[in-house]
Amino acid sequence: MGIDAEMLVRTRQQFTPREVRNLSVDLVEAFGTDTFLLIPDWVPDEYYENEFTPPADAPGRHALRLIKFYQQDGPDIHPESGESFIELSLMGRYYGEGYERGSITTYLAIAEWLEQRIPDARVFYGGDSSGVLAEQFDRAARERIFAHFCRVGHKPYRGGFGISVFDKTLGGHPACGFCGPRMTETGGSRDYSFYSCGSCEAKVVRHHATGECEAVTHEDKRNDRFMSGFSVAAKRLMSRLGKEG
Ligand SMILES: [Zn+2]
Repeated sequence: MGIDAEMLVRTRQQFTPREVRNLSVDLVEAFGTDTFLLIPDWVPDEYYENEFTPPADAPGRHALRLIKFYQQDGPDIHPESGESFIELSLMGRYYGEGYERGSITTYLAIAEWLEQRIPDARVFYGGDSSGVLAEQFDRAARERIFAHFCRVGHKPYRGGFGISVFDKTLGGHPACGFCGPRMTETGGSRDYSFYSCGSCEAKVVRHHATGECEAVTHEDKRNDRFMSGFSVAAKRLMSRLGKEG
């Protein structure tokens, strides 16, 4: 499993759910719908019911929402008196030292945007699993991680650690037919893995047992937004191989 990026704004400015909703719409307009997990018919499950109640006049899951406290893979964070928490619904992997995976430049720009629009915002950034805790993402922290990004980009992640047993058997990750370098593993299931090229938009699904690959098409991406087309391509691959997907 991968580590997804999480972001939290702590502010002493008071917001109504409606104001947060308007801010959310502006944020998505600015950065694009691919950056956020937006679910119009979202109903919070038990996990979220504890921390979040959607406003009756504005249901669904948006890019920003007021939360009562922040849950993470570690100690919960509770607001101090007079403080509001606004959580982001980011769609993408975390990027940090030792996990150089997600789109850190996007997260850096989002943090800047939040500080512009919420003048006293303190932005926190972390992951959703593997014990990656939210840390203050102020100017100094951002400069540090950007310097790291300029040095190494995504190479440590792509370069070989975390290679699964299937990848070893099959001689490593598949190479991108367009760019050349090996692709990055971005997920999968018991029978197949997903790979993306870091330099172009190419994505493939590869069957562990046979090494057969299936390219993800633009059509797949349109039909399978939350999984970037991978699950549709995986289904096609498995039916081509005469297996259940
Ligand atoms: Zn490529």
